[in-house]
Amino acid sequence: MNQRPRVDSTPIPFIDVAAQRRRLGRAVDEAIDRVVDHCQFIQGPEVKAFEGQLAAFCGARHAVSCASGTDALVLVLRARGIGPGDAVICPSFTFCATAEVVVLVGATPVFADVDAETFNLNVASFERAIATAKRQGLKPKAVIPVDLFGLPADLDAINAIAKAEGLYVLDDAAQSFGATIGGRKLGTLAHATATSFFPAKPLGCYGDGGAVLTDDAELVEVLKSLRVHGQGSDKYDNVRIGMTSRLDTIQAAILIEKLKIFTDEIAARDRAARRYSEGLKDIAIVPQVPDDMTSVWAQYTIRLKPGVRDGLAAALKAQGIPTAIYYPIPLHRQGAYRQFPVVDGGLPVSERLASEVISLPMHAYLDEPTQDRIIDAVRNELGRN
Ligand SMILES: *Cc1c(COP(=O)(O)O)cnc(C)c1O
Repeated sequence: MNQRPRVDSTPIPFIDVAAQRRRLGRAVDEAIDRVVDHCQFIQGPEVKAFEGQLAAFCGARHAVSCASGTDALVLVLRARGIGPGDAVICPSFTFCATAEVVVLVGATPVFADVDAETFNLNVASFERAIATAKRQGLKPKAVIPVDLFGLPADLDAINAIAKAEGLYVLDDAAQSFGATIGGRKLGTLAHATATSFFPAKPLGCYGDGGAVLTDDAELVEVLKSLRVHGQGSDKYDNVRIGMTSRLDTIQAAILIEKLKIFTDEIAARDRAARRYSEGLKDIAIVPQVPDDMTSVWAQYTIRLKPGVRDGLAAALKAQGIPTAIYYPIPLHRQGAYRQFPVVDGGLPVSERLASEVISLPMHAYLDEPTQDRIIDAVRNELGRN
């Protein structure tokens, strides 16, 4: 008789939004109903309440909500008057929005490399990119470090260099809201910090949304004007060219409920990440968190030997286990971004990572039996190589 071990191949979700919804019970539905009843869909009372709670959560003086994480970045660049002739340094190994916003305001992104261990902006490469920008006749005005996969960039070192060079620091915390350096939460560790509430982010809403965190009261006034068509003292007084970028009241109401359980969810993600690393550290390169930092694990991303990734992804898929590649092509190799300058010496780490990384299912509701199924499947497949 052919005795084959039975393999459970029930599909596992990459991010289990439904599990969170079950936990929240009726709270979100009731919050939505309240907005539908009071009908203040734009800038209703929940928006202001949520901004206050978001700022308090991370310890920033101010939070200004807007329509997306991308808009949060654009709004800050525009408020700073960054535009044609200016260079903004950013990593190439990131989601496209980080560099897209620089181009949208008419400035030039200059791509710098990342560290293989943290996936975040390499400090020496950042410094070199400032020199590259100057040599090309551009005025370096800002840096957008990205806290990739939920782990803070080395903001202490980046802030020090930016200060010496007169650069503005806009932290892209779209994946990392809630993470810390030295016990302090992101939102307080750069001139301005942008985050996203896209549903798949650690703190996601039920649509698009974003926010800027800052201690800078003057910036806040400009951001609030810019997000409503550059309004001045009233709606029909326009003092600058703005845009439409508000967080819907319904999304704010949902986020108020989700923020209540966010600390607990971060802890659950961290437990899941530690279990993954315990189970996989001898067989793949597992993510490293520097001693003074915490991650919110937007992604759990391992690195593999060259040539094994496609086989692993296919084997896991056959067992109902989804994986994702963040990011298969670094931005400086993308058609839309190829014409922009790269740091002198190139981006060897970004290029290598693009072919090595694979992300495993990660969310706050990943139970241990399910996680063990994933770990066993990865071990079985990699053990073959
Ligand atoms: C998701 C993301 C953004 C953009 O956020 P949206 O809300 O989708 O506009 C920007 N930067 C990074 C690194 C992201 O992951």
